Amino acid sequence: MERTITIQQIKDVAQEAYNLYKDNTEGKNADYIPYLANINPKLFGISICLMNGEKIQLGDYQYQFGIESVSKVLTAILILRQYGAQKVLEMIGADATGLPFNSIMAILLENDHPSTPLVNAGAISADSMVQPIGNSDAKWKAIVDNMTELCGSAPQLIDELYKSESATNFNNRSIAWLLKNYNRIYDDPDMSLDLYTRQCSMGITADQLSVCAATIANDGLNPDTKKQVFGKELAPKITSLIATVGFYQHTGDWLYTSGVPAKTGVGGGVLGVMPGIMGIAAFAPPLDEAGNSVKAQLAIKYIMNKLGMNIFNGHRISIS
Ligand code: GLU
Repeated sequence: MERTITIQQIKDVAQEAYNLYKDNTEGKNADYIPYLANINPKLFGISICLMNGEKIQLGDYQYQFGIESVSKVLTAILILRQYGAQKVLEMIGADATGLPFNSIMAILLENDHPSTPLVNAGAISADSMVQPIGNSDAKWKAIVDNMTELCGSAPQLIDELYKSESATNFNNRSIAWLLKNYNRIYDDPDMSLDLYTRQCSMGITADQLSVCAATIANDGLNPDTKKQVFGKELAPKITSLIATVGFYQHTGDWLYTSGVPAKTGVGGGVLGVMPGIMGIAAFAPPLDEAGNSVKAQLAIKYIMNKLGMNIFNGHRISIS
């Protein structure tokens, strides 16, 4: 079915979602990383970026928050750019674990693969793959440059968050060394873990995340900078990774109710990709029991459902 949606309709629906949920007080900030526990829980921002670069933005869309697990998507794109889709499948995998983001059990169950670059194990493994191997500074530069190209502007390291995470990341340290045991760390394990911790501590805005999402939706062409960031053959690969594991063990529930592949982070951000139509991002710190932003989920679901945008309904939507 062919449908046309006007930009005004999207604006109206986004405003409705914002008004409906802005005073919602459900959920609780992540508390296992001290920095995140202290963020103002009232912050709430929405940003939509269309394929022509036009943006629809509400609330705290310029507030810089910890990107956390959403960074896994960006570094997955970097290794896809550096190695190609087949090699990433062989060296990490593309399977949903069905388990929490930091599961050690998932590694033990599937010791031949860290499963997917979008869970902690696969993300640490992905950081170990970033070229040039053996050079931490140059690897970090590649990670940040890639983020900047995807988001259209540079993210900033939140030093306090980095320190806070580094001091408390005991579970991730175990993951890095367990992966080493299975030959799934392709560089120094401590360096790979540090790169992962640093990338999670990057400050990003909903505005930047929506541009990144739109770049994925737009076959790798950044609609803001008009630069081709990655080969268009990689776009469906990255969207499939997001669709299968973006909400960890709740990915099925998310896709079923929202219809949009999306990735969450414990900083309160969510990045959603509607291929060929738009990138959407929302941010609000309080999380549900599974570690996903309550208000960001509610807002994105509302917007998608009200507009009838769903990757599974086969509608060909044009925006006028
Ligand atoms: N830095 C976090 C961790 O690895 C990211 C978790 C998340 O956002 O899901 O513990």
